Amino acid sequence: MLNWKGSLLALALASSAVMAEDAYIVRFDLNEGMKSYLRANQFDVTGVNYKTNEIEALVTEEEFARISSQKSAVIKFSFPQSLSASPDDEYKNPEEITEFVNDIHAKYPDITTVKVIGKTLEGRDILAIKISDNPTEDEKEPAILVNAMHHAREVMTPEITTDMVEYIVTNYGQKTEVTNWVNNTEIWVIPMFNLDGNNKMWTENSMWRKNTRGGYGVDINRNYPTGWNSCNGSSSYQSAQDYRGTSAASEPETQAMMNLVASIKPVFNISYHSYSEIVIYPFGCRPRKTPTTEAVEQVGAEIGKKLDYRPGTAWELLYNADGGDIDWMYTEHQVIPFVIEVNSSNQGFHPDYHEWRDKTVLRNRAGWQHLFARLNGPSLHGAVDSKDYQVIKLYKPGTSQLLQTYKINPNGTFFIIVKAGVYDLSFEGTQVKKMSNVDVSSKVSVNF
Ligand SMILES: [Zn+2]
Repeated sequence: MLNWKGSLLALALASSAVMAEDAYIVRFDLNEGMKSYLRANQFDVTGVNYKTNEIEALVTEEEFARISSQKSAVIKFSFPQSLSASPDDEYKNPEEITEFVNDIHAKYPDITTVKVIGKTLEGRDILAIKISDNPTEDEKEPAILVNAMHHAREVMTPEITTDMVEYIVTNYGQKTEVTNWVNNTEIWVIPMFNLDGNNKMWTENSMWRKNTRGGYGVDINRNYPTGWNSCNGSSSYQSAQDYRGTSAASEPETQAMMNLVASIKPVFNISYHSYSEIVIYPFGCRPRKTPTTEAVEQVGAEIGKKLDYRPGTAWELLYNADGGDIDWMYTEHQVIPFVIEVNSSNQGFHPDYHEWRDKTVLRNRAGWQHLFARLNGPSLHGAVDSKDYQVIKLYKPGTSQLLQTYKINPNGTFFIIVKAGVYDLSFEGTQVKKMSNVDVSSKVSVNF
């Protein structure tokens, strides 16, 4: 038994050992001034809470002491975060994701294929699973892409994607709705994207976010070419959590995503992140927004309503973010893309698995399921000869007011999600075909 001196010594040793690796989550009032303060200090903003109007950051012990001694930022709440304490074991690691994907394909070979879309820096295979009725063929169907975990510590996100895959394959042939999704859509799921980072999160640092480039890591979701390093929405410091890398698309993970998107041309994408309970659409840099004539914001608001998550751009809801995946997908490939941040600040990055896993994945089904519903809502679907036609222009009827220009896919297909309304259409290329007063209040097929 220890005497009182021994107990105190043991206590002191234990606390200094913990302190050496500790960080703090700190919570502040959410306002523009606080956002600027956090940005100026390069703090790792971890999430917002619009129900309580608060913003949170992860800071080092030294930063915590500095903030506490200043008057400029009032800490409303803080708790220490042990960087060596892993999330619950039930959350998946990269090996378990590989096992999951291979198991699904073994059990459902007729409706799935597995594709290695690229390799991580450390040589791990980045896997995508495609679910469709003739999965090895290009049936000229619209594609939907869903991915999880650009950021390594966001462990709830692969739970959403693996739940989605399981839900679809097990209900195929059972629920008419699901059977229709599989028969009429090419569903692509990347269950876990940042595999190296996640491995590091389990083995070295539970708050790890980036990939593992050089030991310091690059934030993959600040590495995409559109708007890269354009609005102080990322960092040039290697040590920062939002380090953008030395050049646009410098990371093999970024390139793998870009190649997949270019080849499958998804109509919709959801990139799952945590936490904040928000739905983000382009663009990441203040004050840019998508054109009001397009359906992007509308679909984002619909998903937000289904989930009771707040919709908006990154700069409206959080902060400027440049080099993000959704801006690139929207700009380069006309994808209608969203970031969905699951869970609230009450759960953080590592929610208690037994308490929160099922609740979170069940709630989020309404989000990805809405994409299938919206694909059958107001939209123009069809196929033309891509040698004759390359673009479709949508005009306000009877005027020369151009609302949207859509590039026809290389295989001649097009899937244009629009706001319900009447449009004049112009198919253009070496040939021109015009159609006036086309009522697109539901799904309309055009083939010629
Ligand atoms: Zn994230």
